[in-house]
Amino acid sequence: MNKTLKQAMMLALCSSVAWSTASALDLKGVLKDAVNEQLGTSSKPEQTQATDSQANTSAQDKLANINWKNPSREDEIAVGRNVTGTILGAAPLVNDAALQQYVNKVGRWVASQSERADLPWHFGVIDSNDVNAFAAPGGYVLITKGLYLRLTSEAQLAGVLGHEIAHVVQKHHLKVMQKQALLDVGTSFLKDKISKNKLTQRAVSTGAEISARNLDKSAEFEADSMGTVLAARAGYDAYGLAEVLQDMETINNNDGSVALLFQTHPHPDDRLAQLSQVSGDQMDKISGGKTLETRLVKLK
Ligand SMILES: [Zn+2]
Repeated sequence: MNKTLKQAMMLALCSSVAWSTASALDLKGVLKDAVNEQLGTSSKPEQTQATDSQANTSAQDKLANINWKNPSREDEIAVGRNVTGTILGAAPLVNDAALQQYVNKVGRWVASQSERADLPWHFGVIDSNDVNAFAAPGGYVLITKGLYLRLTSEAQLAGVLGHEIAHVVQKHHLKVMQKQALLDVGTSFLKDKISKNKLTQRAVSTGAEISARNLDKSAEFEADSMGTVLAARAGYDAYGLAEVLQDMETINNNDGSVALLFQTHPHPDDRLAQLSQVSGDQMDKISGGKTLETRLVKLK
């Protein structure tokens, strides 16, 4: 297993560390930096520093004022940015602007088929040899290099991204984080007052944690079937995700690269069985979807 990534998830459990790591990172900024670097338009370091610290202050303000009982769209995005920052702290984006732009194009097209097309969706390939993908509230989706390398068509990419998009659409992670935050509020009535900041730190830590594990099986099955529908609606072959799951079946359970994935998701066998039960008939009805093997951008 990718030790750094696992460590980051563990690190995320320690809220104070997660807080400083997370707030120092900003997916948009990282993406912009990656693009700038490629295009050779990187801004001066002093300017970047000033903008970063300003951005961090306002990001922290946003996080401190999250309404956990009834989070707004902006609350959700602020939380997701922070969770994503924690993950990127352990495994940065692959430094390939063309690849990142391509994955964003495919992801945004699939997301546009969902009922939350209006979210500011961000997609990225992270530099990890694990076979895995992550979603965070507000429209953040990351896929590892290890998983990307196994894909053989754009339809498969669309299926994988569709699964993660479905987690965001259904607010699977956000709901777990809300539960944690409100549980903390409940406990704080008995003890001394818990600061709003601390509350958010804990919830965000939970978020990074559960991005890597702990969603219940039904949420995963739901993400599989919804992701398949979204990819098919986007015009892709409906079997993209199923193909990826079939490929995962061939990876040895003891292979470290899938340890985290197999811990956090039901086994591919169960997912395939469930997927064919839920959407098997529908999948057969949808025909003419594209696989687009040659359009899949190869990793350098
Ligand atoms: Zn999942």
